[in-house]
Amino acid sequence: MDIDNLHAGLELDALVEEKVFGRVKCDAPVKPTAFGVTRECNHDPGTCYKPGLKRYSKSMSAAAELENWVNKQGWHRVPTALIGTRPNPTDTIVLAYEKNGGPVVEAAGPFEEALCKVALKIAGTHT
Ligand SMILES: [Zn+2]
Repeated sequence: MDIDNLHAGLELDALVEEKVFGRVKCDAPVKPTAFGVTRECNHDPGTCYKPGLKRYSKSMSAAAELENWVNKQGWHRVPTALIGTRPNPTDTIVLAYEKNGGPVVEAAGPFEEALCKVALKIAGTHT
């Protein structure tokens, strides 16, 4: 898999769920309740994901959750001229992260997409 060639979308979101968070795709049917819907499955809580629910590669809030995971692994964003600015959501930027002064991991794309790619790279190398 060439991570750098991935683009924002459901496939990238699913890769984040599976490779970064280690969750399995949940295909249990949803059941209506008084408050909305519930999903009855046999997975342990937090070990499965519903495709399309968290759009890590498209949504700021899901991306914030992902960056929190990245930070918890000890990786921090390398300061760049972009700090303090919010580029146009479709702008291509280069995100770079480092851990304890080691090699820098980076990826390019719109912010959320680039972050997903960084997280996938870290998930494959953080051992
Ligand atoms: Zn499940």
